Amino acid sequence: MSLVVVGSIALDTVITPKGRRDDAVGGSATFFSLAAQHFSPVSIVGVVGTDFPRRAIDEFKKRNIDLEGLAIKEGKTFRWGGEYKTNMKNRDTIFTELNVFKTFSPILPPSYKKTDFLFLANIHPELQLQVLDQMEENPLVGLDSMNHWIERSRDKLLEAISRSNIIIINDEEIIQLSQMPFLIDGVKFIQDHGPQTVIVKKGKYGAELFHGAQHAIYPICPEEQLIDPTGAGDAFAGGFMGFLASKNVKDLKFDDYREAMIYGTVMASFLVESFSTDKLESLNIDEINERMGIFCKLIS
Ligand code: AMP
Repeated sequence: MSLVVVGSIALDTVITPKGRRDDAVGGSATFFSLAAQHFSPVSIVGVVGTDFPRRAIDEFKKRNIDLEGLAIKEGKTFRWGGEYKTNMKNRDTIFTELNVFKTFSPILPPSYKKTDFLFLANIHPELQLQVLDQMEENPLVGLDSMNHWIERSRDKLLEAISRSNIIIINDEEIIQLSQMPFLIDGVKFIQDHGPQTVIVKKGKYGAELFHGAQHAIYPICPEEQLIDPTGAGDAFAGGFMGFLASKNVKDLKFDDYREAMIYGTVMASFLVESFSTDKLESLNIDEINERMGIFCKLIS
């Protein structure tokens, strides 16, 4: 079935204990779509500047990622810089330059407005709402966000959340957003706002799935090496939503959500093995299924 993602497409400067990359292709929609396209066709809504590398656009096209909703505007691409601490979990944002995002207003191609699945990746909540406003049917909507927007735009974010079905969020963000001391109360806070499916990402401790009153817990999938965690949450969301979008939206059951959690976890484990999109670009479905088999044995 069809899957549309709106999110950032960026040039990142990333420093980790394993090295440094400048102006590397990144952004929430980038990592999401490169992970999701293994499972279902993906269309991107976003914006880049005229400095965005042609090679990266070609890479999207090579993977059948639809770019009709990608605007190329005169000016510089959104840029973000982050530096990780030695534990590779905590990081400082060194800079955020909005550039072409400053004046961006998404316009969806007609076919995107009838999509079955929509993912509102990490981006300004106002833009997430603008995309929701253009929908002509009722897609299954997933949403991700970050501390930056919880601090600056909490009301708009809560409005976008109330119009979504699935929230993918990390443990610290859920506490910050809900202003509740305990995770479980934060989950209830989100469910009370509308979305019945809440996925809590817990870094090296894995992820939890809350689906109405049902609940499942997953560890992380062991990676070969940890080089750069930037975008792991987006790759997780891409694997998760991409797998769901390979099913009929009307027939989704709790077991499908559970399987999607496994694909999300596996895609995140590949992402962290390289800087930027390197590993996601070289992956094939056989490697994904092999790791999926190893992970399933681990958790069975
Ligand atoms: P994550 O590691 O999952 O937090 O995702 C990191 C990605 O988010 C990087 O590729 C950044 O370009 C992107 N990013 C960072 N800050 C923002 C922001 N304020 N809005 C949208 N995307 C962002």
